[in-house]
Amino acid sequence: MGENCFVIEILALHAFDDNYIWLLRAGGHVAVVDPGDAAPVLRHLETSGDRLCAILATHHHGDHVGGLAELLARFPVPVYGPVLENIPGVSQPLSGGEHIELPEIGVEFDIIAVPGHTRGHIAYYGPSLGDDGAVFCGDTLFGAGCGRLFEGTPAQMQDSLAKLAVLPAPTLVYCAHEYTQSNLRFAMAVEPGSIAVQRRSENTARDRAAGRATIPTSIHAELATNPFLRWDAPAVRAAAASRLGHVPADAVETFTAIREWKNRF
Ligand code: ZN
Ligand code: FE
Repeated sequence: MGENCFVIEILALHAFDDNYIWLLRAGGHVAVVDPGDAAPVLRHLETSGDRLCAILATHHHGDHVGGLAELLARFPVPVYGPVLENIPGVSQPLSGGEHIELPEIGVEFDIIAVPGHTRGHIAYYGPSLGDDGAVFCGDTLFGAGCGRLFEGTPAQMQDSLAKLAVLPAPTLVYCAHEYTQSNLRFAMAVEPGSIAVQRRSENTARDRAAGRATIPTSIHAELATNPFLRWDAPAVRAAAASRLGHVPADAVETFTAIREWKNRF
């Protein structure tokens, strides 16, 4: 099947305070990513007439999988999710390294293991989605931030973020929360001299004031402004050094210091 047989739309459904449930749509079929709540998905299906063909889960937290049971009761579709996590309803367990296909909407994903926020967290990378590719990364990489370390170690999270950082720079990043604006307040504290962070903060403030989403972001934008990907930047290393009281030995120590600072910010 050719990659360009379908025009795939990616839509955001809002859930809870700040969650995004991503919906991939083509030819009257939809797949949903991280349906923490079934209601907005069911509303979309009713009003559009689209048919649900698959559910993708990135990790086990309730705000990502809370709608699974209700959706499955009505639509017995395949559910992809991390093999390492106990998520009732997952029929297609994934550990990273797999390649999956959703034939109804003509999309293929490479599965990337990104432990750290949770121990089995996975990301779905679609190299041929849209013009530049797209990655659905749940609570691993956020706009100007990263997920908290609930189950993994800082070294695991840094390694996971490094896997996302090497995706092609134009790749669009579809994370699961609208946290960009508050994350940028922290990014400003880490790199107060950064014009890129300052500019992004201004643009983000304008977008939020107008009610616009800041997601998707891109790998390119994150590499320029996200302190949790910038372990090699001199300003970020210096900020880590002043927290630690010594020069960080490596990327993991830099990342760890920045993450711990953010936990108390
Ligand atoms: Zn989570
Ligand atoms: Fe979440």
